[in-house]
Amino acid sequence: MTRTLMTIGECMVEMAPGDDGRFAMGFAGDMFNSAWYARQIAGNGLRVAFLSATGDDAVSGEMEHFIRAAGVEPLLSVVPGKSVGLYLISLKDGERSFSYWRSDSAARRLTDGLDRLPGLVSGDWVLVSGITLAILDDDRRARLLGLLHEAKSRGVLVALDPNIRPRLWTDAGEMRRQIMRTAALSDLVLPSFDDEAAHFGDATPEATLARYRAAGAASVVVKNGAGPVMASEGEAPAVTVHPPTIPAVVDTTAAGDAFNGGFLSARLAGASLTDSIQAGCDVAAQVIRARGALVPVKTART
Ligand code: ADP
Repeated sequence: MTRTLMTIGECMVEMAPGDDGRFAMGFAGDMFNSAWYARQIAGNGLRVAFLSATGDDAVSGEMEHFIRAAGVEPLLSVVPGKSVGLYLISLKDGERSFSYWRSDSAARRLTDGLDRLPGLVSGDWVLVSGITLAILDDDRRARLLGLLHEAKSRGVLVALDPNIRPRLWTDAGEMRRQIMRTAALSDLVLPSFDDEAAHFGDATPEATLARYRAAGAASVVVKNGAGPVMASEGEAPAVTVHPPTIPAVVDTTAAGDAFNGGFLSARLAGASLTDSIQAGCDVAAQVIRARGALVPVKTART
């Protein structure tokens, strides 16, 4: 049976500097990246869809074409008169920094006109992130949570990557409340320990695991850069998986997004928790060896 993984969020235009000082245009964004990686490594048994909103201009059309060409089904509402967000990467002494133009992007209205999440049935997964929550105003965020509740009532499974970005929120306390509120309705939470330590004050990955489990998430998988991934699910004992050692890390952009794509596509194919974490680590290990958010990857199967 074909299962669906739907991710919800913002895809942006990416302007990345080349060696000659010119910029190359691409498209990326955390939830689209996760869909892109899931699509890369999943077999035919998985339908991967990306739900967002774009404008009605030429670059919005190019984005839709790019998403479709990647094999990801675009579920995009069109907001007349708006466009997509954009970010530009600056390189100084080998360090990358990011500038964003996204405050009025069409994706901020991605819940408008939605009564339910389309095409999802029991056993399918939907993935949202803390960035998805952050770009929506209060009413639209409440609407998204309502859509997730409704999907859950039909047996759809909800996953959250907290992807904590304080600059997208006006208030840090509200940011933490909204992330925990969404975690409480999630079946799976996929945090990265450094973010959680910085913004929730967790002393250890175990503390992150315990906090999201206590909030109500049945499964929690804590990523931790080169450190071990710690996870627990249901009543089973916690598991620890060591990512492979990568001697020459080139660019960790989208490592967590790639992990999510690898993990969820393995989980949807019926893999165990430990094997799904291995799949996530395997995809992320390939991504950090190359520059850019979207890197072609292989699976152990291919
Ligand atoms: P994020 O990109 O969200 O900050 P992390 O930095 O925790 O996420 O990394 C996500 C995953 O990417 C890790 O769980 C691991 O599998 C892989 N990864 C990241 N950095 C390294 C590294 N230096 N060596 C090996 N694997 C890494």
